Amino acid sequence: MNISIVIPLFNEEESLPELTRWIQRVMTDNGFSYEIIFVNDGSTDRSQDVVHTLAAADPNIHSISFARNYGKSPALNEGFRKAQGDVVITMDADLQDSPDEIPELYRMITSEGYDLVSGWKKKRYDPLSKTIPTKLFNATARRVSGIKNLHDFNCGLKAYRRDVVKHIEVYGDMHRYIPYLAKNAGYKKIGEKVVQHQARKYGHTKFGLDRFVNGYLDLATLWFQSGFGVKPMHLFGLLGTLMFVVGFLAVMAVLILKMVSICNDSYSFFVTNSVYFYLSLACMVMGLQFFLTGFIGELITRNSPERNNYLIAEEF
Ligand code: UDP
Ligand code: MG
Repeated sequence: MNISIVIPLFNEEESLPELTRWIQRVMTDNGFSYEIIFVNDGSTDRSQDVVHTLAAADPNIHSISFARNYGKSPALNEGFRKAQGDVVITMDADLQDSPDEIPELYRMITSEGYDLVSGWKKKRYDPLSKTIPTKLFNATARRVSGIKNLHDFNCGLKAYRRDVVKHIEVYGDMHRYIPYLAKNAGYKKIGEKVVQHQARKYGHTKFGLDRFVNGYLDLATLWFQSGFGVKPMHLFGLLGTLMFVVGFLAVMAVLILKMVSICNDSYSFFVTNSVYFYLSLACMVMGLQFFLTGFIGELITRNSPERNNYLIAEEF
């Protein structure tokens, strides 16, 4: 099978028939063998009935339906597990992404050897409150992830070699960083294609402003995981050691000040009056905490199924 199209959806009943017809037309025009996997993320409208009707008319349509709303990332993850096509395409269900982009995305994966091609909504049809923070978000993501050529990490329209989706786990809200997940999993050839974007025709956006706060926290998590995920002590041990060094210097400073004060025969200096005394206390306590966090982190990674997970490029 050439293509699997994975579509996460949450209350998108109006868009589904139009989207399906459009995909079917593009697939037949290009002679692709395909499957459409609708992942219904606990919709409370008639979306699943619509999917049933569509599936009854087309054996290429499949569906996974969650019992409740878990989020876009879990929906994508389950869709990825089910996908069988050589190339896996993800797109939003709200008709903002155009199925006409699929043939070129497919070609980039199969002929140009990309592992992942992300869409870039160069001209966006979303409110300013969304487009401006998104620019900032993408600039940060580029820096932290080191994937310098991507302008639009969170574009719903993406294409993958099947191998890639089988080796990444999308959870929480990590769908915003799938290129980063893929890179951490060992897939290096990540490309971009400018794609057409449209204003939302039906329904409304499912993501509020909290996504910016959560987005940055998730980025921090991924940064930590990719650098120290299997060796947390390398980070916490370093911080702890720094604390101990500063604390030790502060203790020395207190002792020297006290000695000088005694030698001068005036007992006017009290250690509790010195800023160094408090600095040494704080640093020692924090240093110890960093080390304990590091040790606990090491114990946890020892039990992690990921600790010996490598992507092998070649083996004789
Ligand atoms: N979506 C989902 N689960 C959620 C929220 C969104 O499956 O909890 C789907 C939604 O139905 C759509 C896609 O994810 O197909 C993108 O959502 P939306 O269009 O609301 O995001 P935006 O385009 O505003 O960033
Ligand atoms: Mg949308």
